[in-house]
Amino acid sequence: MLVEGIATEEVAALASAGRAIGQLHVSPNEYLYEMCVSPVWGSPSQHTRAKLPSTVICSIRHEDGERLRRRLADGEQVRARLEAEVDTGWRKTPLLVADLDADNGVDDAPFVLFSGHHDTWHFGVMDNGGANATMLEAARVLAARRSEWKRGLRLCFWSGHSHGRYSGSAWYADEYFDELERRCVAHVNVDSTGGEGAAVLTNSGVVDELKAVAADAIVAISGQKHAGRRHGRAADQSFWGVGIPSMFGSLSHQPPGPVKMLTALGWWWHTPHDTMDHIDPKNLERDTRIVLEVLWRLLTSPVLPYDYASYARSLQAELARLKTALEDRLDISALQDAVCELERQATALARLSNGAADKAADFINGSLVRASRQLVPLNYTSGERFHHDPALPHRPWPSLEGIGELARLPACSPDTVFYIVHARQTRNRVASALRQANEALRDVLDLKL
Ligand SMILES: [Zn+2]
Repeated sequence: MLVEGIATEEVAALASAGRAIGQLHVSPNEYLYEMCVSPVWGSPSQHTRAKLPSTVICSIRHEDGERLRRRLADGEQVRARLEAEVDTGWRKTPLLVADLDADNGVDDAPFVLFSGHHDTWHFGVMDNGGANATMLEAARVLAARRSEWKRGLRLCFWSGHSHGRYSGSAWYADEYFDELERRCVAHVNVDSTGGEGAAVLTNSGVVDELKAVAADAIVAISGQKHAGRRHGRAADQSFWGVGIPSMFGSLSHQPPGPVKMLTALGWWWHTPHDTMDHIDPKNLERDTRIVLEVLWRLLTSPVLPYDYASYARSLQAELARLKTALEDRLDISALQDAVCELERQATALARLSNGAADKAADFINGSLVRASRQLVPLNYTSGERFHHDPALPHRPWPSLEGIGELARLPACSPDTVFYIVHARQTRNRVASALRQANEALRDVLDLKL
C-alpha cells in the first residue's frame, strides 16, 4: 500500500485487517517521522495480542513518494522491496515515581497525579525534555509552599510512551488500580512544552469537569481564551477507567501553517531535529507557569474544582442528538432525567462548597470523587473500566456507542432488532453509572452541611 501521510495506528490496523504485506508512508515533507503504530493500548494480553500490526511499515520522503506516484501514473509496473527487522519482547523499563505529601499528617491522603514521559525519539529535547523540565520546576516551586496544600502530589515519569504505546502508564494504572481509585483525585499530564513558535494555547485536551480550571489558568498567564478540546486517545491517558478527571498532554501548539509544519508540535517533532535550538525559553516559562497555576489550584482548593454541572450539560447535548436520531427506536428518557438530576445536584453542591469548613469540604470531596469514578469512564471509555480500550481514535462519549450505532442505522434496516438488543444493554450500563453518581452527590447533600 502506498499511503499519503505519516504512519498511524489506524492505518496499521486497517492494513493488517486487509491482509496487506506492507505500507509505504509518504511524508508530507523531506523529514521521516518516527511513529508508534500499535493499536493495542499498553502491553498486549492474550486477548489483544492478535491486534498487534502484522505488516512491514516504512516511511519515505515526500519527493520519493512523488517519484513513485509518477511512475505508477505512467502505467509502469513498480516493484518496491521493504526490509524490516522486527524486535518485540518483554523488557523492564524504568518509571520514576516521587511522592510529595501534603503537610497535614493524614495517612493515605488524596493526591494529584502529575505525569509526563521521559522516553523519547532521538534527542527529544522538546518531546519530552521540555516537559521533564516543566515537571521538575513546577514541583520545586510548589514544594516551597507545601504547608498550604490540602492534598499530596505524586510525580510519575513514564517509559514506554514513544515506543510502547503507553506501556508504562497502562501498567501503572493496572498495578495500582486499587490505590489510584481510593486516593487519586486528578491527573495532569505534560508533553512537549516550550516549543519554538508554539503560540497557540487554546487547544489542549481537558475533561468537561476541569475545563474551567484549564481556561482560568491559560487566560491568566497567556491572555488566550481556551476552547477546551476533548482529549484524543493519546498522551498516557491510561486512567480514565479508574475514573480520574484529567487534563493536558501537549499544551502549546504551532499556528496553522504550510504543510512543512505538519504537526501541531512543529516539523522537528519525532525527528533527529528535536534539539535545543527549537526550544524558546520564554515559551517554556509560560507553559510551566500555566501548569503551575493549574496544580496550585488542584492542590490547595478546599473543595475539588470539579464542575459536574458543565459535564451534565455536555452529556445532555449528546443525549439530545441521539434521541433525535433514534426516532423512537429506543427510549432513553431515563438517561436524560438522570442527567438533569446530576446537573441540579452538582449546582446545589457547588453552592454548598463556597466557604465550606474543612470537615464539610472533606465530605463534599469524598462524594465528588465517588461520582467521578462513574462519570469519567462514561465520557472517555467504552464503559469497560478494568481493561484498556484500543489506542484508536474514538467518538465522544464512547460508552454511548451501542446507542449511537442504533441511531446511525437506517430506519428500515432489517438489522434493527439486533441493534436494539445491544443498545438497550448499553443504556442500562450508562443508567447504572449515572444512578451511582447521583447517589454519591445526594448522600452529601442530605447531610445538610
Ligand atoms: Zn511526547
